[in-house]
Amino acid sequence: MVAIGVVILAAGIGKRMNSTTPKQFLELLKKPILIHSLEVFEQHPLISQISVVTNEASYNHVEHLIQKYHLKKVKRIVMGGKERQNSVYAGVTATPTEWVLVHDAVRAFVTADEITTLIQAVNENQPAATLAVPVKDTIKRVNEFGIVEETLNRKELWIIQTPQMFDRELLLGAHQRAESQDVLATDDAMLVEMLGDSVKVVRGEYTNIKITTPDDIFLGEAILAKRRKGSVQTT
Ligand code: C5P
Repeated sequence: MVAIGVVILAAGIGKRMNSTTPKQFLELLKKPILIHSLEVFEQHPLISQISVVTNEASYNHVEHLIQKYHLKKVKRIVMGGKERQNSVYAGVTATPTEWVLVHDAVRAFVTADEITTLIQAVNENQPAATLAVPVKDTIKRVNEFGIVEETLNRKELWIIQTPQMFDRELLLGAHQRAESQDVLATDDAMLVEMLGDSVKVVRGEYTNIKITTPDDIFLGEAILAKRRKGSVQTT
């Protein structure tokens, strides 16, 4: 079996949360969001190791949490960078597995089944894949004056999530090229797309939300509470 590592991104400062605590450390049902995310990968049989990317201010706290929650697969804590892309590069460089998954710590509700489906989507000929869901709303492109320029074809639009999975060498090459061309992307798939390689879109769940603003905390608690009682249906 090939080794699959995970890079968990937790170096952000969460500007949009209006909180002094970065959003990955806020608690949902008395457990930090970062730990909810880490436990899914810790318990997944196909994942061999985890790297957590954080920053100087949070390093000791992350170390403490990993010990407290007995996360045995976490092999290292890596210093992130100014932008998400810099944090990913640091994390992937430090993770010596043939395949890597890159995951935002703030997506605490990803499930083991979604991870398995993503892993099954990649192979030698398809070395990049991402979880995503079809867009439900109508999306328009709007100019700086608030006037609609274009209505996009909804059938072609997907909301891109994490985890995203890559052949590690491909991803490192994509990052190095982006760096040399001064490209800053909001996800890693985009960097691989820019190399001309295909990225497979794997349908995930609408519950795999990114906790970004205070409203998402309420939504997150509802998802967890519903899961405790039984299945949560959002599709
Ligand atoms: O800011 P954004 O919502 O894109 O952050 C997504 C994830 O990337 C978060 O889990 C955040 O902690 C992480 N991040 C990071 N390093 C940065 C910025 C964001 O690890 N410099």
